[in-house]
Amino acid sequence: MKEPSAILAIVLVMATNAMHAQRPAETSAGSVRKAMTGFVYDEIYLRHLAGDTGHPDRPERLTAVQDGLKSKGLLKLLLPIQARKVSDDVLELVHDKDYLALLRREAVDIAGLRMLSTGDTVISPDSLEAAYWAAGGVLSAVDAVMKGEVGNAFAAVRPPGHHATRNRGMGFCIFNNVAVAARYLQQAHGIARVLIVDWDYHHGNGTQDIFYDDPSIFYFSTHDTSAYPGTGSSNETGSGPGAGATLNIPLPRGASDELILEAFQQHLVPAARIFKPDFILISAGFDAMRNDLLGEFDVTPAGFAALTRVVHDLAVELSHGRLVSVLEGGYRLDGLAASVAAHVEVLMEPATSAQSH
Ligand SMILES: [Zn+2]
Repeated sequence: MKEPSAILAIVLVMATNAMHAQRPAETSAGSVRKAMTGFVYDEIYLRHLAGDTGHPDRPERLTAVQDGLKSKGLLKLLLPIQARKVSDDVLELVHDKDYLALLRREAVDIAGLRMLSTGDTVISPDSLEAAYWAAGGVLSAVDAVMKGEVGNAFAAVRPPGHHATRNRGMGFCIFNNVAVAARYLQQAHGIARVLIVDWDYHHGNGTQDIFYDDPSIFYFSTHDTSAYPGTGSSNETGSGPGAGATLNIPLPRGASDELILEAFQQHLVPAARIFKPDFILISAGFDAMRNDLLGEFDVTPAGFAALTRVVHDLAVELSHGRLVSVLEGGYRLDGLAASVAAHVEVLMEPATSAQSH
């Protein structure tokens, strides 16, 4: 009787060992899945000053973003992605050479603060450098996704980008970070079609303008047309070959989680399924949040999580999960921290669609 029980004991030990051996593997697999979302941040982004103390686009926004991610235990689960400086060649895929020359004239060797001559964008001595690293940081994120190092990524960059046109910095924006990334995806990675989803409270006039006649980049935006810069009515739908590849869904002041989610479900989802993007970029503007300093929508962190889930599911269904989210606006620091955390937490969720890759 002793022998069989000894064998049984050995079998049990082996089984237990196997379980223990498996457990770290499971944990590690779980961690890997969690770490599949990348995070771009660089201290240069803090050195861009957009105005005097009290200006809404202040460096503390990015500190708040990190604090929000830390407080939910998410920051340590994100894979840090090293930002880089964008080259002029890549910028020129989107921006005019003349505009880059203007920036070199106006934004280099300045003392204190200065207003760009092209629009309401205040710059400081390090702003142009920060802008080069902001656009470059988004490129690092899309590279990491395309190489399969991460499934998706969030880029916490400053200055923001979606108001910048080919030849005009405006609305706190110098380079159109998302537009540069979209063109770079096509140029450097052979991506054919890019969907840009913009939920900032303000209309991304720059992004719309840059791709208005381009059928290969679909621009979807929810915003308040009565706010800056006043563009983005529903009859702006693209032109020439790009006709139908711009979709503006203006929402009223006070727009709730339910209203903005309905816009995504009823308008974005069917349009994306027809367009079939190979990559999705989010212009993630959190000034659509409740009580933002510059916005008058009423979106809560749960609302941003729901919007993220819609876009994440579309990426999984249509774009091999390829998704990079880029910070635009969002000016109430505590709300920004909570909203970004809710957003990133959904980006980190495992793919729910059967078509996951
Ligand atoms: Zn905004």
